[in-house]
Amino acid sequence: MTKESCSNCGESTYGMVMLTDGVDQTRLLCNRCHNEEMADLMGVDNYNDFKETYQTKDSSGKLRNFYIQKRLFPLGVKWNAYENKNGKVLEEGYQFLIYAKLEENPKFSLQRLLNKINKGLSVKYIKQKRFDGQVMYTLLHDKLVGRIEWDDDFNGQIPKVIIDGKAYTWNQVGKMLMSYEGWNLKLEITEEGED
Ligand SMILES: [Zn+2]
Repeated sequence: MTKESCSNCGESTYGMVMLTDGVDQTRLLCNRCHNEEMADLMGVDNYNDFKETYQTKDSSGKLRNFYIQKRLFPLGVKWNAYENKNGKVLEEGYQFLIYAKLEENPKFSLQRLLNKINKGLSVKYIKQKRFDGQVMYTLLHDKLVGRIEWDDDFNGQIPKVIIDGKAYTWNQVGKMLMSYEGWNLKLEITEEGED
């Protein structure tokens, strides 16, 4: 995720919204400007009334910081949590997302997002060990849950996967599976807002 400048306020930030007005008028808006416009259109108040940061420990006791972003849309609200470090969003970190109806109390929506973060951080899937100069992986629950991302090294032909808030190459994932040679594999893809 890279920072870009807002066409409205000029602030340089993450996660811009691209709006196209008319034929070739394109504007890139920061989340705040986007929400202000949407709130005006929709007649919504207090849309920015929440704490934008959240800090909690993962299952191994490591402190993780999140940046919370709320985005208004005519049909609902999208709440994102991006893991960050020193104020910078970690591309290869944890990310969580929930959708909320416009009429849902934002306090409940935010709580649902925080619950999702806590639940996501409570499970660790991979244990990494060095043995004889080699890295060994153990799948703690015979299962992997993560996020598919673009891998520049392979020009997007094969993915890298973010698991436990850490990036693994497809090759590493393959290595993890080889201790299960002969077993069956079930691969399931879910949408980003799903559990
Ligand atoms: Zn702006």
